[in-house]
Amino acid sequence: MSKTFGIEKILPLIKYGHFDFGENKVQEAVEKWTNIKMHENKLKLHLIGGLQTNKVKLAVKLFDFIHSVDSEKLAKKIFEEEKKQNKKVKIFIQVNIGDETQKFGVNKSSVPQLYSFCKTLNLDVVGLMCIPPINKSPEIFFREMNVLKNNLNLEELSMGMSSDYLDAVKNSATYIRIGSKIFGNRN
Ligand SMILES: *Cc1c(COP(=O)(O)O)cnc(C)c1O
Repeated sequence: MSKTFGIEKILPLIKYGHFDFGENKVQEAVEKWTNIKMHENKLKLHLIGGLQTNKVKLAVKLFDFIHSVDSEKLAKKIFEEEKKQNKKVKIFIQVNIGDETQKFGVNKSSVPQLYSFCKTLNLDVVGLMCIPPINKSPEIFFREMNVLKNNLNLEELSMGMSSDYLDAVKNSATYIRIGSKIFGNRN
């Protein structure tokens, strides 16, 4: 996760052969990445954060992955933009795995329904994503995510950050999202 870090911090990693980067704000990502993405075709950009429908156009244009689809409205908007731009992005459905009122994500029980809806739009759904509750042990949530993912026969699980990526990997995470353990603390 390269959010908040400037391109000067990121370039050495690209030189080193790291090509997947995550951002959580569309505008920040557009400013930071548009230019370099044109020259570096191995780059894969991941949007991991709340996405408003009025930003979908820019998001579909820049990103290769969107990890935060949590409503039919958003899915439909992505579908429309993909058609207009003749581009497909890979999609994760964000699950509110801890049932937290303040969090983004669809409730566990609604995941199959949203998944079916995305499939009817022919979106390229590759997996599920979660951010577990901050003050609880993440392991049971990661385990639940793995079950949900397997029930839907999906391949990918986006979960785990600097503090909990080892638990995430134990529970079959395929995309871990490390920020501060690579870049240092954010201001
Ligand atoms: C910032 C962020 C991360 C990375 O967090 P670190 O603790 O710095 O590793 C992971 N996932 C999401 C959704 C984030 O917003």
